[in-house]
Amino acid sequence: MAWDFETEPEFQEKLDWMDAFVRDEVEPLDRIRLHPYDVKNPLYAKLVRPLQAEVKKQGLWACHLGPDLGGQGYGQVKLGLMNEILGRSHFAPSVFGCQAPDTGNAEIIAHYGTAAQKAKYLQPLLNNEIVSAFSMSEPTGGADPLTFTTRAELDGDHWVINGEKWFSTNAKWAEFLIVMAVSDPDGPPYQRMSMFIVPCDTPGVEIVRNVGVGYGDEGSEGYMRYTNVRVPADHLLGERGGAFAISQTRLGGGRIHHAMRTVGQGKRALDLMCQRAVSRTTRDGPLSGKQAVQMMIADAWIELQQFRLMVLHTAWLIDKHRDYRKVRKDIAAVKVAMPRVYHSIASKALHLHGALGVSNEMPFVGQVIGSFVMGIADGPTEVHQETLAKQLLRHYQPSNDLFPAYSLLNRREEALEKFAEILAEHEEAA
Ligand SMILES: Cc1cc2nc3c(=O)[nH]c(=O)nc-3n(C[C@H](O)[C@H](O)[C@H](O)COP(=O)(O)OP(=O)(O)OC[C@H]3O[C@@H](n4cnc5c(N)ncnc54)[C@H](O)[C@@H]3O)c2cc1C
Repeated sequence: MAWDFETEPEFQEKLDWMDAFVRDEVEPLDRIRLHPYDVKNPLYAKLVRPLQAEVKKQGLWACHLGPDLGGQGYGQVKLGLMNEILGRSHFAPSVFGCQAPDTGNAEIIAHYGTAAQKAKYLQPLLNNEIVSAFSMSEPTGGADPLTFTTRAELDGDHWVINGEKWFSTNAKWAEFLIVMAVSDPDGPPYQRMSMFIVPCDTPGVEIVRNVGVGYGDEGSEGYMRYTNVRVPADHLLGERGGAFAISQTRLGGGRIHHAMRTVGQGKRALDLMCQRAVSRTTRDGPLSGKQAVQMMIADAWIELQQFRLMVLHTAWLIDKHRDYRKVRKDIAAVKVAMPRVYHSIASKALHLHGALGVSNEMPFVGQVIGSFVMGIADGPTEVHQETLAKQLLRHYQPSNDLFPAYSLLNRREEALEKFAEILAEHEEAA
């Protein structure tokens, strides 16, 4: 019987260490004016580097990587449990060397990069000496990459890139961008685009503006313009026309990590909700005594628990099959459920805190916006619903019967036929 929900004690010890370390040392970083991707800021050297050194000492640095790249080669279940803890803090992924989009970018350079590309970009990225951005979505539409128009044309021994990209996260801190551009406009639809490594100081790379998510200060979502950006031919990443195949490599495990980080955020919201419920009183006692409040808390716990099990089960399937194609529908389902569950729990927590809940002194507004982000970034919910439904429907054949074979009438006919002899004997004897 190999169905087991236990965490092995040695790994649980590591999780316990992470839990305390994130709470005591990392979460406080979220409350000061320093951004987790501002790696060249002198304050980063003072505050974040010592914590990263501690994580390395514990053997927990960049655990998503295989041992060949200095990681532990942990499977997705272990990584999922770790990300549940990391999800509580904006800084934690950077402190543990597993911050998106650098993780995905490192993954594809490791997989498709040349030796020279790896030497120049991969190692400093893995060491978090530099950060990177992924420049794929365009202002005219991000959900359907077949509509992208940014062009890359070969001119002698250089590629020349022209076009605009939208929401290239962290472009303002990045050393280089991975840009997806149309290199072969006449090729088959899924082989028209290639990926390029574009150093940010290349002439013609411009950040038109840094868009913010929600309200507040200047953000870090780069609206990019590429004007006659010339990069040497060897800055092509992977095969010419291979952008789609490469981007699939990028998204597999990352979605599970995001989902478990969302579980971490959901747990935090639920925790604060319960704390408030037992602390805030009306004239007849604490909020926790009200049935309506109890129902909200119970529902939030159930939603979170259902989602957590679904994510961990998907992680387990990935570890078992070691082939993302076999788990496509499960990953799509996780991606669809994630914004809903997060939205539902964060909204309940916000509501239960009343005016304080909508204030900028609580995390809930950010969480609610975050739940919308989860349903948009990395493809909108509808696209993943479509993937899931198509995967499910592949197992069904159409029938020409006017009344389906599974109608109760037909099933009854079948049953009568199956038991005809016994029923006849029974009737005779009666
Ligand atoms: C916080 C954040 C960070 C991001 N980071 C990056 C990044 O680093 N790099 C990058 O390249 N991109 C990034 N993105 C962009 C992201 O990939 C796109 O926003 C996403 O693919 C959706 O594209 P869009 O915003 O243009 O929406 P659209 O494509 O315009 O879609 C808008 C809406 O239309 C509907 N819709 C679209 N297509 C379908 C369909 N097939 N079926 C049914 N309904 C549909 C959905 O309701 C969808 O929400 C980021 C986005 C966010 C919010």
